Amino acid sequence: MSAVDKAALREAICHAGHRAFQAGLVAANDGNISVRCGDGHYLITPSGVSKGDLTPDMILEIDGAGMPVDGKGKPSVETKMHLGIYETQPDLNAVVHTHAPHCVLLSTMETMLTAPLTADAVVLLGNVPVLPYAQLGTQALADGVAQASADYNAALLQNHGAVTWGRTLQEAWFAMEALEQYCRQLYMQRLLGNPGRLMTRAEADGLVAVRKGRGVTRGGDHMPPEA
Ligand SMILES: [Zn+2]
Repeated sequence: MSAVDKAALREAICHAGHRAFQAGLVAANDGNISVRCGDGHYLITPSGVSKGDLTPDMILEIDGAGMPVDGKGKPSVETKMHLGIYETQPDLNAVVHTHAPHCVLLSTMETMLTAPLTADAVVLLGNVPVLPYAQLGTQALADGVAQASADYNAALLQNHGAVTWGRTLQEAWFAMEALEQYCRQLYMQRLLGNPGRLMTRAEADGLVAVRKGRGVTRGGDHMPPEA
């Protein structure tokens, strides 16, 4: 991948970071974003920086072991988590992690999100697992996420946040926005104390077919998974 392409990817990461900050999906220095460059290297956000303040020169280029090859500063504390996805899923090229507030709330209440509440939830996400608590920055967290990335488009990290991935940065980013929206809707449903109407299995299956038609292989064959 040429230097020009990497410059464009740096800009795209900053754009996603700014959107995440403006949407309230990250606070302080939480969250991280990365992309696969295609030459064995990756671009990833630095540790300790607000995603609202990202500039292209802050983005680090790292090798497959997580060692910086270009840029100043320290790579994200969750670099292992990003690399675990890239190592195990060759078709995935971007990863987004945030501490989006409604995602965090739902991570403490559920073990798997399966309610076919909206078309966006079914098409952009599918079923979303909640991974049991693991301390930030650990290999245990990275391993759990890598495993989930084989079958799903997103995961909630218990008492921590959310992570999404995709073939492109836009796909990963859209999944994050859709996931926070979905969790917010589920949370509001709970506040109202009324489960409301969910789609029928047949209605949801029609939307699963739309997801598969886009070439997305993850997310499950049915939502909800059981009949
Ligand atoms: Zn985090």
